[in-house]
Parts: sequence; structure tokens; C-alpha cells
Amino acid sequence: MRIEDLTEETLKQLNAMPADELIRWAFDNFGERAAIGTSFQLTGTVIIDIANRHLKKIRVFTIDTLRLHPETYEALNNTEERYGLAVERFYPDEDTLKNMLERFGEYLFFMDKAKQEYCCFVRKVEPNRRALKTLDVWITGLRRDQSDYRKDVPKASVIEEDSRKILKISPLADWDMDKIWHYIKENNVPYNKLFDMDYDSIGCIICSTPLVEGEPPRSGRWRWFHKEDDKKECGIHK
Ligand code: SF4
Repeated sequence: MRIEDLTEETLKQLNAMPADELIRWAFDNFGERAAIGTSFQLTGTVIIDIANRHLKKIRVFTIDTLRLHPETYEALNNTEERYGLAVERFYPDEDTLKNMLERFGEYLFFMDKAKQEYCCFVRKVEPNRRALKTLDVWITGLRRDQSDYRKDVPKASVIEEDSRKILKISPLADWDMDKIWHYIKENNVPYNKLFDMDYDSIGCIICSTPLVEGEPPRSGRWRWFHKEDDKKECGIHK
């Protein structure tokens, strides 16, 4: 199948599918041109587990910003071991990273929002764009209950990426944390141990912090920015 062949009717059907059916549909129809992109948050690990149950071969990629928590690298290794997978790693471009560090230093994300976004662009967004060039279907772990900004996330939509159309799928868009934890415990899914330390959303070290009781899910990101309209997004999901 080609993205150009997707009709409005098919998109409607995809949006009504349960997670397992949707994931299976993606790999059945696009094979290696479909891939799960994960930063080893809980949703990503659940999607990998579901995919592994239903399919012989799956593709998984991650963006290694070179600033991840040790627990995240451990989760990556455990996932590879458990499912016999080789997770594809995409890294920041070496020269661009070197140039950024020479100009602004390692901790530029403390300076202002623009520099945090620049750091996220160099370490996450650009490598993610390179990853997206290798696929037609991008399977993500976005959920509607993560923030106001994500409250309308569709399960399936066609997006424009680098002047090319790709299908973005978020199979767990309508799951909540109770359902995710239930699935993880029930199926003994290996997960990032930061989630046992009050983290709710995980990115790079320093930029992601644990939650205090009662805080909304993504509050632990870039804590030093407090503006109410702050989207707390790194730019990967526009
Ligand atoms: S989360 Fe922080 S360290 Fe990681 S890329 Fe973004 S600003 Fe840079």
C-alpha cells in the first residue's frame, strides 16, 4: 500500500480500531516501511509488546540524544533482550552538536526557551527527521490525557514531513495510565525504572524530573519554564 492510496474512509476505520488491530494493520500493510518510534516511556514499551505478540517482525527506532538517563539505556537493553530486537538508534549530527556546544555550552537549555528548543532540535528533532525518511508509517506513543496540547491526538492521521506524506499512528491515544499499568503488570512488560521514581514523562537527564503529587503529567519537563502557555513539547510532535 502507498500513503497516497489511503482514503478518508480508511482513515476513519483506522481511527476506530483498537490498538492491537491498528498496529497489526500498519505492519501488515507497510512491512519495514512502518516503525515504532519510542523514547522508552511506558506507552512505547506497551506498543512494542503488543506488536511482538501479533507479528513476526517489527521495526523499532529511538532517538539517542546522548543525554538519556542510565535507566532509559537499561530499558532499551532489556527491551532488545526480551524481544530479540535490534532497536535502531538515531543520534544527533556530530558536527552540528559540536558547533552548538562550542557556541552555547552543554547547559544551554537553562538560558531561555529558544535555546532549549534549539538543543531539542539538534539532539531530537533533526535525528527524528532522518528516521522518518526511512519509513511511511510512524507509530508513536502519544496519548490524549498527557496534556491539553495532546487532548485531540488522532489514532491515525496523514502528516506532511519533509515535503512527503506519512501516516502517523498513535495506537494508545485513548488509553489512560491505569490501563497502561494494568497491561504492563499483566504481561510482565519490561519498563523504564524511572517510572517507579515518580517520573511520568521522560526525556533527557536534567530536563525531565519526577512529579510532585497532583501535578499534570508533563510538568516534570523543563521545570524552570513556568509560562502557562508553555506547551512542554520538544518539537518532535508538531
Ligand atoms: S530535553 Fe533538554 S538536553 Fe534533551 S534535547 Fe531537549 S533541551 Fe536538550
